[in-house]
Amino acid sequence: MALVVQKFGGSSVATAAKLRAAARRAVRQFRAGNQVVVVVSAMGDRTEDLIAMARELHPEPNAREMDMLMAVGEQMSVALMAIAIHSLGCGAISLTGAQAGIRTDSISSKAEIKSIETARLRREMEKGQIVIVAGFQGVDAEENITTLGRGGSDTTAVALAAVLKADRCDIFTDVDGVYTADPRVVPNARRRDRIDYDEMLELASLGARVMHSRAVEIAKRFEVPLWVRSSEDESEGTLVTNVEDVEQVEVRGAALETNEAKVTIRDVPDRPGVAARIFGEIARSHINVDMIVQNVSAEGTTDLSFTVLQSDVPAARRTSRGLADALGAGKVEVDEGVAKVSVVGVGMRTHTGVAEKMFKALAESEINIQMISTSEIKISVVVDADSGERALRAVHDAFALQEG
Ligand code: ADP
Ligand code: ASP
Ligand code: MG
Repeated sequence: MALVVQKFGGSSVATAAKLRAAARRAVRQFRAGNQVVVVVSAMGDRTEDLIAMARELHPEPNAREMDMLMAVGEQMSVALMAIAIHSLGCGAISLTGAQAGIRTDSISSKAEIKSIETARLRREMEKGQIVIVAGFQGVDAEENITTLGRGGSDTTAVALAAVLKADRCDIFTDVDGVYTADPRVVPNARRRDRIDYDEMLELASLGARVMHSRAVEIAKRFEVPLWVRSSEDESEGTLVTNVEDVEQVEVRGAALETNEAKVTIRDVPDRPGVAARIFGEIARSHINVDMIVQNVSAEGTTDLSFTVLQSDVPAARRTSRGLADALGAGKVEVDEGVAKVSVVGVGMRTHTGVAEKMFKALAESEINIQMISTSEIKISVVVDADSGERALRAVHDAFALQEG
């Protein structure tokens, strides 16, 4: 008997018919003699709708209450999924994150899973039930409901697969696997049969929302056998794994991130310790900074730009304004009209000229680069939001990713 974790994303449970189709998949696994844990996201755009409702009432809703609110979406889905499974003549029970034993830290809207107490899950499975767990949520030490960050149901599924030592974890979604770039933006993107954990991790953290990056981190650490596949058909999808025979191709994927904003603090005093103070303060406000660029100017001051998630803009603006006042710096400007385009490949470690090729492709498309950052296996640039999709297609073409 195998233990299988199946996760269904928002679009895969958006309607009663889709919920029933997902329920059938779970029942099929169960009737084949397996133990089945199902993780479900909120239906369709439910999470967006809940956020919009809160914003109608308050421009900066309280973070704890937002977690309480957003968790509702998944709670609805799990109960409906259990009901759908019952209608197929199978036993099933739905659990919230807390009921499933998922404990997190207390950082609202981006909580991290600290531990999972599996006793209840195992007990329910031993009773012969399919166990359905609400994705994206947990509970902190004070019993506050927390959420794991947008797209976090993937992380719930992979974390459960890790602690339960599942034989496989299937992420069912609205694409039939992981492509060389988002197939909705790059029509000639190519589906990958396998992808290395490290490449998947980079792609996920650089905006390829097909997998939540925390989920990939956990999958890598615990070597969870992970598939990304379509809820619409029977194809095998993409296996995320340790790819041993990685051919040394320089670039194997490209990603577009449209959820970031650029914050600039003007006329920052150019002296030792200032950057440490600024980014220390920002980190204490739980704002994740992505890229940083500092320009040195002649008059002893400099402009400092960095990118943050758009959802962190109000907090970043407030913190930066306070810092600018304290340091005697100038204006704080926020530009939400930016996009980040990245290329990823473990083969980049041993190749040179990748950056040059990427910059040349962008230049030929007359796309201006605002910021650059590189690591061992990726290069990212920030461009104007309007050029983002065009930039993604240009770099995908430049590295001929469609050809494999
Ligand atoms: P779910 O609701 O199932 O979690 P998401 O919308 O979060 O689904 O993720 C699936 C989407 O990810 C796809 O519809 C696709 O547009 C997008 N995507 C971005 N990059 C990629 C990629 N490299 N491969 C496949 N899909 C991608
Ligand atoms: N419902 C949550 C979101 O929309 C979590 C998820 O879908 O994975 O972000
Ligand atoms: Mg998702």
